[in-house]
Amino acid sequence: MKNAVQLTGLSQPDLVSFLKTMGEPAYRGRQLFAALQHRRLRDFDEITDLPKDLRARLSEVAQAATLKVESEYLSNDGTRRYLMKTHDGLPVETVFIPEERRDTICFSSQSGCPLQCTFCLTAQLGLLRSLTTGEIVEQIQIALNDAYGTGVKPPRGTNLVAMGAGEPLLNLDQLLTALRVMADPQGLHIVPNRVTVSTAGVVPRILDLAKISDRPHLAISLAAPTDELRDELMPINKRWPLEELLSACKTFERTLKPGERLTFEYVMLDGVNDSEEQARQLANLLNRHSIKSKVNLIPHNPAEPLPYLPSTDVAVERFKNILESKGVHTYVRRPRGRDIFAACGQLAARQTTLNTRVVTNLVGAN
Ligand code: SF4
Repeated sequence: MKNAVQLTGLSQPDLVSFLKTMGEPAYRGRQLFAALQHRRLRDFDEITDLPKDLRARLSEVAQAATLKVESEYLSNDGTRRYLMKTHDGLPVETVFIPEERRDTICFSSQSGCPLQCTFCLTAQLGLLRSLTTGEIVEQIQIALNDAYGTGVKPPRGTNLVAMGAGEPLLNLDQLLTALRVMADPQGLHIVPNRVTVSTAGVVPRILDLAKISDRPHLAISLAAPTDELRDELMPINKRWPLEELLSACKTFERTLKPGERLTFEYVMLDGVNDSEEQARQLANLLNRHSIKSKVNLIPHNPAEPLPYLPSTDVAVERFKNILESKGVHTYVRRPRGRDIFAACGQLAARQTTLNTRVVTNLVGAN
């Protein structure tokens, strides 16, 4: 439906105002918000506590859901990848990663991505468009409904990471609105403290984010310890080189809450950025800026036609030891969902039947 209002992108007060324009009292707006965001209903027909005529009028001007799930891929390790389509036919990918004490949902902020990181498959799609607030929120609803049943409270905590397709800081306004909608205790109730946004290094937006009190956590994808190599791997570095990026991180660091750290992600590419010398360069770079941070080493997830291989376990361990010997807190991130193209840098709307259970039209938007 053209020009229909996407209700999943509206906060509770905005939904109340929207229903007021339709001549409805405030409590109807609150009721509808709870149905969409708490009970995660995706079709007006299911919201049977609203009068039938109101549901009919709503369906003429608004949508309870816009994304359609085309396929779901289930990894051997329990990770699920959803390939969805927007109302205008663009791909959106979301990954659900179950863990012992919590679940993590990795969502997309854009369809495709305008940045050209050479180790990332998403880059090959280019930017199709930025996602709307509703499209961001719906990804989380769809993943939770699929994992636990419609509206069922997740048994563990839910963490969100904006590390799917796209550069989140190039869609910051929609993203922050989505996070505020999701934080509502009468809705999904996932607070910003549970959310990490990962950026390739859009310096002005890092500085904007630093000024926001209810901001999510921040992760920076570094991938290289020198400008020369980072220019090659992440061309955004030519616009905002390492010194500028790290000085923005220093500003951001001043806003960290007790116990919070800035995260640096470092994808490990065999023979490209994983030498002992590069580990020392990285430690020196971070120590020179003395930023309260930790480093996540992420062995590259191979994906044809990308020209890289993951660093060997030995190289990853050696790199980690050097960083730690120089006082840098370092962790190695175990890849999840590699077999279904759900791991970092592998999201490119791939249809695959390898090692997967494929479920088509699993969750339909109305
Ligand atoms: S790594 Fe992130 S920012 Fe870089 S191209 Fe891929 S999706 Fe875009």
